[in-house]
Amino acid sequence: MIESSLVYSDEDLSVYRIEVDIPIKALKRINCYYLRSGDDSLLIDTGMGIESVKKYIDGEFGGVNRVFATHFHIDHVGGAPEFLEDGVEVIMSKGDIGDIIKLREDPDKYINYIKGIHLENGVPPDLVEKMFARHPGWWRLVDSPNMEDIIGLADGDLIKLGSHELRVVVTPGHTPSHACLYLEDKGLMFVGDHVLSDITPNIPLIRWDLNPLRDFLNSLRKVDKLGPKILYPAHRSIIRDPHKRIHELLQHHDNRLREVTSILGDGLLTAYEVASRMTWDVKFKDWSEFPPSQKYFAVAEALSHLKYLLEEGVVYRVERNGVYYYGLNK
Ligand SMILES: [Zn+2]
Repeated sequence: MIESSLVYSDEDLSVYRIEVDIPIKALKRINCYYLRSGDDSLLIDTGMGIESVKKYIDGEFGGVNRVFATHFHIDHVGGAPEFLEDGVEVIMSKGDIGDIIKLREDPDKYINYIKGIHLENGVPPDLVEKMFARHPGWWRLVDSPNMEDIIGLADGDLIKLGSHELRVVVTPGHTPSHACLYLEDKGLMFVGDHVLSDITPNIPLIRWDLNPLRDFLNSLRKVDKLGPKILYPAHRSIIRDPHKRIHELLQHHDNRLREVTSILGDGLLTAYEVASRMTWDVKFKDWSEFPPSQKYFAVAEALSHLKYLLEEGVVYRVERNGVYYYGLNK
């Protein structure tokens, strides 16, 4: 189901939230945003490409001039091919379109690299296979047409909307080059999955050369410093006290880092073992009941905290028979 509501309006700008059902149980819906100023219009995020956001927009609003996707996850960029096919410009951060292109050039290489990270961090091989078996999040990106035509922009670049400009604010963390759009003269920021209202964005480690949690915390501070008045996230409700929510998220990860450190007080553990001992706000009774996809998110998130602690010098790691174990530095 797709439905829209007017969430902001003044003399020269209207913002509609377009809620689209998605088959991701933990999220249920994505919020796309349709902005109109005079004759000009912009759509932020596109849905998964299952229900047609383009058809909805053509019917409800008479089309759109350009489209921006906040990051490469399929619920945000999955609808992009339809717009591209119709000659509508689709824009995202240079870094995240780079990831899509790398994945499409050699999907096995790209996915095997991430599988490798999980194997060497103690995830049982049969579980790794289940985690990645034709994972729709990756494979829909591979199978969708036209994705190479997406235009990449850098941090600070501007997107026109009537007499206004929205600034690309690259906020790595949730993905390596996740990007928000800031309409500075009105204090409105469209934040994708960077800041969410009552759930914490997943911060997965998908490349060992990155430190996604450090990047995420810096990106939260970067948004806070810009001082937006309202945040429009891609899931759940609109955030009217950005400073408060950002500080809750900073505090959450501070607590998580403490939790991981205390788990490692028990001795050397793999990232898989750390993930299984962390507390997760999910409906499953215990770790053994987590489905493979949930275990993937948990391990990827445990890894981002371990990588952070490793680079801070709190934690060390040793290799034994091709598997890494983490311990606390004295
Ligand atoms: Zn996402």
